[in-house]
Amino acid sequence: MCRIFGGVIEKGNIAPILLIGLKRLEYGGYDSAGIATIFEKKLFLKKDKGKIDEIHQRLKLDDLPGNIGIAHTRWATHGAPSKANAHPILDCKGTIAVVHNGIIDNFFALKKELEQTGHNFISKTDTEVVAHLVEENYMQTHDFIKSCIMSIKRLEGSYAIAIISSLDDEKIFVAKKDSPLLLGIGKNENFVASDAVAFIDRTKEIIALNDNEGAIITKSSYLIYDFNTDNYIKRKSKVYDWNFDIASKAGYDHFMLKEIMEQPISISWTSNIQKPYLDLISEYMDKSNKVFLVASGTSYNSCIAGSYYYSNLANLATYPSIASEFIDQFGNSIDINTSILFVSQSGETMDVIQAVEYARMKASTILAITNIAYSTLTRLARAYILQQSGPEIGVAATKTYTSQLMVHLMLAFNLGKKRGKLSQDEIDKLKQEIETIPKIMATTLDRQKDNVKKIAKMISNKQHVFFIGKGVNYATALEGRLKLLEISYIPSTSLNVTKKDIDAINEEKNIAVVAIIAPDANRKILIDYVQHLKDIIILGSEEDNELKEISDYLISLPNVNILFTPLIYVLPLQLLAYYTATYKDIDPDKPRNLAKSVTVS
Ligand code: GLU
Repeated sequence: MCRIFGGVIEKGNIAPILLIGLKRLEYGGYDSAGIATIFEKKLFLKKDKGKIDEIHQRLKLDDLPGNIGIAHTRWATHGAPSKANAHPILDCKGTIAVVHNGIIDNFFALKKELEQTGHNFISKTDTEVVAHLVEENYMQTHDFIKSCIMSIKRLEGSYAIAIISSLDDEKIFVAKKDSPLLLGIGKNENFVASDAVAFIDRTKEIIALNDNEGAIITKSSYLIYDFNTDNYIKRKSKVYDWNFDIASKAGYDHFMLKEIMEQPISISWTSNIQKPYLDLISEYMDKSNKVFLVASGTSYNSCIAGSYYYSNLANLATYPSIASEFIDQFGNSIDINTSILFVSQSGETMDVIQAVEYARMKASTILAITNIAYSTLTRLARAYILQQSGPEIGVAATKTYTSQLMVHLMLAFNLGKKRGKLSQDEIDKLKQEIETIPKIMATTLDRQKDNVKKIAKMISNKQHVFFIGKGVNYATALEGRLKLLEISYIPSTSLNVTKKDIDAINEEKNIAVVAIIAPDANRKILIDYVQHLKDIIILGSEEDNELKEISDYLISLPNVNILFTPLIYVLPLQLLAYYTATYKDIDPDKPRNLAKSVTVS
């Protein structure tokens, strides 16, 4: 995926503002970046391959004149990362500039048609057809906005697009279909971006565009255009209550470390979810014949833990399913009596949205947990819970995972009460324990930092790492493994381990094993299994003396209710992944092969 950003301010230069916003959007893609502005009816452009900081050092991206401009940070789908393929992309005459997130499915046919009418293509991107289409239509209409509307109507596929032109130098035209796009409405300045973090320090007034909508923004106005009816429509802005500070590194070397460290805060935000939202979702889950939990990656791992919570606390069977598999695996078995709880940090994950669309066709009830208000998922869901983690900029999900666990827990408590499986006394006791979690998280992070750093040094030389867990902490093994693999690239495996696995692991060389041994019914068997392994790292309760004897490296953690162990036990594993990446000289905020949410295939 890419991220786009554009803005018009009253006076002064827009480029420094675009650069700051672009840096905050870099989590979405970082193979190339660029900015285009207009000044005195001329278009100015700087773009290149590479990360934003590197490009800025070479080209001074903030040094462009003009109060209107658009910007892009790219994660290529069509055409390798290169200067020519970097956005903004221009038309033949260099009067029209386009930034785009998504894929134009019919670009090949459009390109052929435009080439036949004499347009010269410079890049290998699908996006370039948009610039030439607008150029072609302008030759007929001599009207920039009309040309943009006519061009967008020719596109098939997904897009969040922003277009400026020196031929009409006060307007930005934008359009959206299947890629996120928000307007930011300021005082004598207006913005448009894939994510509100880009402009949150300038305005918190937001308008979310729907699919098949466009907009024209100037410094003092905005107009929303409905492509379905060919009419302009009215929509008021809403206030977004996120803080800009949350989107800065606050003195940490990386967003990932900052976000790991702020989990005591983010988890307390999450635990403030209002009861009516929990009640509404519980109601649907309770009355359905079948309940699925559908998600990808880290969010899926939270669903695995969730399935244990719903069963243990509320006697409710839920079926976790990986979003990309859901239609094939369960599609035929869902109907109007099915509820599906979709979990997606961004609310835009392509596999999740496809599964949602399918489930809507089957008239199933769409429920959601997401971190992003106004995301596609919130618009498609019958009811949703915002997990309130605050913006997560690091590409590897950390604080959003623990928040998702917390939402599942709170839903499970609520369902437990509703279904008569938990008494009010039990709920009150659990709630009291929840209140202690932020503090326990803070102590754990503080105590484990140096210990985990040492272990990470050892891990960074290993060829393979195994993560072993059982019960609800099988989810912790999955998530620990995913984090390490995502940002340190060390091949890793998570196992709900058996004796056969242990025998096989014992024969391997240059490996490490991380065993999560919580004080639950699985403890004894796990101890039996792992005691003969070499280089064994054990996570477990500080009150469990036996673990000291059998471990080579021990991560001793506070003794908490077993239900809460996934919230605490994942913390050292996030740190382990982070420090291992830094030992390997990998930037944990920008791992290769991974963008924050996969919105295009
Ligand atoms: N298809 C465009 C490109 O490759 C945009 C990529 C995206 O949004 O991921 O340049």
